[in-house]
Amino acid sequence: QPLPGIQYRTSQEPEVEDQDVNACMDGLRTTYNFYRTVFDRKSVDDDGLQLEASIHYSIRFGNAFWDGTAKQMVFGDGDGNSRFGRFAGLFNPGCFVNSLDVIAHELTHAVTQFTANLEYQGQSGALNESMSDVFGAMVVQWKNDQTVDQADWLMGKDIIYQNSESLPESAKNAHSLRSIKDPEASTNLDPQPASVQSTLYFKKEESTEEDDDYGGVHMNSGVPNFAFYKVAMALGGRSWDRAGKIWYDTLTDKRLQRKAKFVDFARLTVDHAQKLYPEDKSVAQVVQKAWEEVGV
Ligand SMILES: [Zn+2]
Repeated sequence: QPLPGIQYRTSQEPEVEDQDVNACMDGLRTTYNFYRTVFDRKSVDDDGLQLEASIHYSIRFGNAFWDGTAKQMVFGDGDGNSRFGRFAGLFNPGCFVNSLDVIAHELTHAVTQFTANLEYQGQSGALNESMSDVFGAMVVQWKNDQTVDQADWLMGKDIIYQNSESLPESAKNAHSLRSIKDPEASTNLDPQPASVQSTLYFKKEESTEEDDDYGGVHMNSGVPNFAFYKVAMALGGRSWDRAGKIWYDTLTDKRLQRKAKFVDFARLTVDHAQKLYPEDKSVAQVVQKAWEEVGV
């Protein structure tokens, strides 16, 4: 169906009856405010782009995404429902518009598009995915004013339809898509490698096939995710204060290439840690050590 569809509500207008509209609006607003307040970024393009979202997209659509061409968000309703019987998909009805981590994850794809524009393939694609997870988690922590040890660090929390027959046996106790804190845990729908040496590391990195997840972009993102987690934990306090600033300055650094590998990104984070905290050399050391621990 053609996007964007009919207009339900603008941000200036009061709430409407359809709670999915209001929930989605709240998520967009919180993400916008996070980037504006924490990084002085004016919308995803830093030029005031008005954020638009189409919801109730398609039928039983089990995903949400940033459409980089139309420059807008698109949300499905979720495909997991007992009414669909054995054709039920994996995601609870209405889960995407009600999930701030999903909304912030997708909008961060827009931030990445307007900055480093990391190519969605192989390690640069895994970095692209990781940016969305890491900043998505920070938005949730910022909204809840959580410290790094109070946060759950989960992506796609409680969105999985547990009764789905399409849920693989190995994922029967999954309650999130991914965990930045514990990438390999079996409570993730998609356990990810916590280091480059992990047996979970997706090795067909050169693949450009969707069936190979474009070279494991949703798999290998576990590695940079875990590096960020280690830095945030070692520095303590609020993730967006120091770890987040280092990551943001790296993502928006002109030197970060479209086809950057983990090692390129890692080097720039160390460089920005030194620039941001010249008086406290331990910060750059923490960053260096975190990347070494994940095998980069
Ligand atoms: Zn993504």
